[in-house]
Amino acid sequence: MNPKDFKIGIIGGGQLGKMLIQEAKKMDFSVLVLDPSPNAPAFKIADEYIVADFFNQDKIRELVEKCDVTTFEIENIDTEILSVLEQAGNKIYPSPGLLEKIKDKSKQKEMMTNNNIPTSLWERISDLNDTAERLGLPFVQKSCCGGYDGRGVFVIKSKEDFKKALGGKTFGEKFVDFEKELAVIVARNSQGEVKSFPVVEMAFDHNENICDMIIAPATVDKAIKEKAKQLAIRCIELFEGVGVFGIEMFLTKEGDVFINEIAARVHNSGHYTIESCMTSQFEQHIRAICGLPLGATDLIVPSVVINILGKEDQYGHPFYDGMNKALKIPGVNLHIYGKDYIKPYRKMGHVTIVDKDINKAIEKSNKVKETLFALSEEVDNVG
Ligand code: ADP
Repeated sequence: MNPKDFKIGIIGGGQLGKMLIQEAKKMDFSVLVLDPSPNAPAFKIADEYIVADFFNQDKIRELVEKCDVTTFEIENIDTEILSVLEQAGNKIYPSPGLLEKIKDKSKQKEMMTNNNIPTSLWERISDLNDTAERLGLPFVQKSCCGGYDGRGVFVIKSKEDFKKALGGKTFGEKFVDFEKELAVIVARNSQGEVKSFPVVEMAFDHNENICDMIIAPATVDKAIKEKAKQLAIRCIELFEGVGVFGIEMFLTKEGDVFINEIAARVHNSGHYTIESCMTSQFEQHIRAICGLPLGATDLIVPSVVINILGKEDQYGHPFYDGMNKALKIPGVNLHIYGKDYIKPYRKMGHVTIVDKDINKAIEKSNKVKETLFALSEEVDNVG
């Protein structure tokens, strides 16, 4: 094959799309991207792009029909037209049928329950009182669709919180008093070959409900890692997923591992693979959807990943304060996504800090957090 003559379509042109293209370009594939924003980060490095909404059926058809294979980096897209196009013989990975189930978190939970995959007890909500009765308080209310980075997740601690409950289609989940949150990136290609990446630990900022730090590898027993790995592999095999999947898990105080949620795409918890593993999650996804052999996933060096989030009160054209200082720290790898507008807590980039000693990597990541800031040029706030 000459990759230049093989066109990959990507629905979604955010940072995940951009990093997918960076890896696709390593092998000289051609890439066509669709995104509603004319300034989408991935457009800067794509061969071609289409500015269109994720539910614009005509434009999605145009993209799929122009490409040899189509994938996506966002789940909230039109699966109806994708199913029609798949039935007409177009290659779309992961399959639209699977995406349809995964993008609705309640259908995802149903799929896990039906396949005996361990996950917390749950039910669709019609009456909050009834759900509270059955799941107990506190319980977690989640939006079925469209939630991300903690939006669409609300912990109901008492009946007082019913007033603040989420609107729309939601479900309730038993509150898990977890010890740690883990994640596994797992890939399967169209021939059925499966490979998982090392298990990582996700540390959360519970004020913002956003993942604050990824520690790779997770600091848990070998037996726990093996349990998490086997669970991730079982999921992707059962669902016959093709591509890379990000699987978030809870580790309970009793040493049980169960699944919180599955993402049918490359995932934030797998960014560390770019510098830390023999193959990155992005290259693995390209290999998987193109029917190529999967790459080795061994860890080369431990690392910590932190997000660069828009600082509070910052709106406007972004600039990055403290780059010089941060880049002087050995092992710092800076990824700036190229978003043209900063908003509080928007993911503007990430930093991967590699170090043979994971504790040193954590120390260094704290230094980076005190040094590097995403700010708006429109405000006089040079630190
Ligand atoms: P998102 O898709 O926004 O990441 P998640 O379902 O992963 O949503 O929830 C975000 C965070 O909320 C989780 O990482 C975890 O910290 C917390 N959380 C979610 N579900 C539960 C639960 N059942 N029990 C306790 N905490 C939970």
